[in-house]
Formats: sequence, C-alpha cells, structure tokens
Amino acid sequence: MRRVAHRQVCRNVSSFMSTEVGSGSSRSQGSAYQWCVVGAGPAGIATVGLLLDSSVPPASLLWVDPSFTVGDFGTRWKFVSSNTNVGLFLRFYQRCRSFDFPFDCFSGSLGRTYAIQDLPKEQTCPLDVASEPLRDATQNLRKKVHSVVGEVSQLREREAKWQCILSTSSGDAPSFLASNVVLATGAVPRSLHLHKSYPSLQEISVTTALNPSSLVASLTPDDTVAIFGSSHTAIIILRTLLEKTCVKKVINFYRRPLRYALYIGDWIIFDDTGLKGDTARWSRENLHGSLPDRLKRVYSDSKMVQEYLPLCTKVIYAVGFERRQLPFGILEFSPGYSYNTRCGIIAPGLFGCGIGYPEEKTDRYGNVEARVGLWKFMEHLESVIPIWKEYSVSQGIGQPKGISGRY
Ligand SMILES: Cc1cc2nc3c(=O)[nH]c(=O)nc-3n(C[C@H](O)[C@H](O)[C@H](O)COP(=O)(O)OP(=O)(O)OC[C@H]3O[C@@H](n4cnc5c(N)ncnc54)[C@H](O)[C@@H]3O)c2cc1C
Repeated sequence: MRRVAHRQVCRNVSSFMSTEVGSGSSRSQGSAYQWCVVGAGPAGIATVGLLLDSSVPPASLLWVDPSFTVGDFGTRWKFVSSNTNVGLFLRFYQRCRSFDFPFDCFSGSLGRTYAIQDLPKEQTCPLDVASEPLRDATQNLRKKVHSVVGEVSQLREREAKWQCILSTSSGDAPSFLASNVVLATGAVPRSLHLHKSYPSLQEISVTTALNPSSLVASLTPDDTVAIFGSSHTAIIILRTLLEKTCVKKVINFYRRPLRYALYIGDWIIFDDTGLKGDTARWSRENLHGSLPDRLKRVYSDSKMVQEYLPLCTKVIYAVGFERRQLPFGILEFSPGYSYNTRCGIIAPGLFGCGIGYPEEKTDRYGNVEARVGLWKFMEHLESVIPIWKEYSVSQGIGQPKGISGRY
C-alpha cells in the first residue's frame, strides 16, 4: 500500500516538473528533494541563500511561492517607511554568496546599481527601495534551484519525508516529497472582529491602510475612524490618517503606553517592540501632551470600546500579526501547532522562520521579544540551519553521532 502511494507521488512529481518547473538544473525524476523552502519573502530568500552557501546541492532544493516578488515585504508593505536602517539592509544583501551580488557592490566602489546605495547607512527608507536588490537576489537564486510558482496547500508526513501538495487553478494536486521543509510563509494581520457587533461599522484592512492612496480612497470627510493599537504599524497608519486624509475624527484605542526603542551602546532596549526612526520622531512630537485636533486616544477596555466605537464609521485593527496557515494545514497538526521559538523546529524535518515563526530572545533586562526584521532573520538562520541539517528523520536523529544500525 505504501509503495503504491509512493509511486503515485513520484508520478505526480515527474509530470508536474515537466510543465511547471521554471528554472534550475535538471535532477533525476522521481527522487525526493533534500529541501523544500515554502515562501519567497525575505526569510525564504535568506534560507535558500544560506542553504546553498552551506553546500546543499542546488538541484536538491525546491522553492515554492505564488509570485516570487519578495513576499509581503516587497508587495503589501512596500509603501511603508522602514523601521530599520539602510546599513542593516546592506548587511543582509552582502551576507550570502549565493545572492550573487558582485563583491563590493554595496560599498559604492562598483558604481550605483540600486537606489538604496545612495542613502546614508543610518537612515531609514521606503521598503520598496529595500526590496529592489532582493528582487535580483530572487532571480539569481531561481536560476540555480528548482522553483515552482504556486502555493503549498497541505503538508503530510509520508515515508519519513514530507509530501508537499500544491494547489493549482486546474484542480490538479501535484505533489513533491522532501526530506526537509522550511515554512517561510509570512503572517497576516490579526483582526479583533469588533465591527461585527456594529452593523454600520466597516473594517479597513491593515494592508489597505498601509497603502496611503488606498487608504485615502476608502474614506470620506464624514468618516470617524477607529484605529486599535500603538505599535509601529498603528502609528504609521495614525499619521497617514491625520496627514493625508480629511476624515472628521480619529479615535486611537490603545492598551499599552507608547514604547520607543532606546539605543544604549552596543544594544537596543525594546529593539523589536519600540518605535524607531521617523515614526518615533513623529510620535514623540504629536502623541504626548496636547494631541492633534482631530485625534482622541482612549484606553481600550470594554467600557471605553462600548462608549466610543459606536461613534465610528470605519475601523482598522493594527494589533499585531499571526502566522499564515497553509490552506489545508499540516495533516494531523492542529492549526495552533507550536514551534521551538529558539531554534524554529516544528517537527523532524519541518522548520519555520521569518515573521510567521520568529525567534524569541530575552534581553539583559528580561524583556522577551520576537525578533522580526531582515537582519534578524539572517542571524537566526545562520545559527539554526546547521541544526536543521541534522534534524530530518533520514539523518538518524536520536542516536549518538557515528553510530549506525539497530540497537
Ligand atoms: C508594516 C511592516 C513594516 C516592516 N518594516 C520592516 C523594516 O523596516 N525592516 C525589516 O527588516 N523588517 C520589517 N518588517 C518585518 C518583516 O521583515 C516583514 O514582515 C517581512 O515581510 C517578513 O518576511 P517573511 O519572509 O517572513 O514573510 P513575507 O514577506 O510575508 O513572505 C512570505 C511569502 O510566503 C508566501 N507564501 C505564503 N503561504 C504560502 C504557501 N502556502 N505556499 C507558497 N508560498 C506561500 C507568500 O506569498 C509570501 O511571498 C515590517 C513588517 C511590517 C508588517
């Protein structure tokens, strides 16, 4: 029975590969991949680059993404001003040999290729500017590995490997086997669903709200807008509402005091949860003491929500992000499955990284923060990939090194 299932998978692999594989060198049909990386945002790009740098053969690596356009970072959030500085983006681009940027490309000595090279290293920049080199890195990596334009709809454990089932518009369900799968599938904004109790209140998604022209187009001068949250994302949206739209009133529901990143010598307190850069400056100037005319800020408990939310016509929830699920999940895993927040292991041969599976770190004052950002993904992946390489079922995990065979 198992053999029949395996033969079926192999047939699916070969028929699908002949039509859908975009680029990369050829490999023997029917054999499983060593690695499948799902998602081509910054975390997926770094994973593929570092696996190749660590001598994983390119033909044994499969990369899947619906569009290969630098993930949400390069599409949904591209109008947003970064909270990290240019210098950290440059470090990210330079870190992987396999990205194939010419040596010294970002030091200026080879002339200008990307707009980000003209910016001071300590400055922030629009995420679109930071995405430009990543689009080239993606294309360079796709020339080496097998890449498939599509979505992994489900994962199943099979024959001590992972079966990745893809969704296609034709209704076919091609699938691939891989010894190791890395989920770099990103995250989606959380909703509080409070508008469901108020029929005249309409939700504006965070994705729309982070695109200034879409936000302006969604609002009229008669609108009173509720915005929940006080994070970087919430304050960016608050600022756009006040500076770019002519809505009647903005009510900001918050749960915790505004928090700022504090640079102390060689480290940063509230590095991952504090406001930074231009957004921090704007917040310091506008949200302490007397507030801008059209803004009211209220503590978000049920009494205040009941009092103020009925006055609003539109609501935006900027209250964080949650892991993006595969459409049909992982077979026999609950949707809330956990992962090791220090090393990204979900199960043998199954790992997570990026904003969907961030590393948690405790700073020297005991604050625990999820480390989210390009350079942080790179640092984390550099430390965990050597562990992941040893943690598939086929590596004989659970046995002391150097001992093979049965006990
Ligand atoms: C508003 C905002 C501002 C930010 N600013 C910065 C900043 O200034 N600096 C910084 O370093 N970081 C910043 N970040 C944080 C972080 O770098 C980004 O969120 C980044 O997009 C996370 O990268 P990722 O690769 O984990 O996910 P994403 O960029 O979301 O990429 C995930 C990819 O996986 C694909 N995918 C999902 N499911 C599947 C599937 N089933 N099959 C195949 N593919 C799939 C998606 O289509 C997507 O292409 C910001 C985040 C936000 C929300």
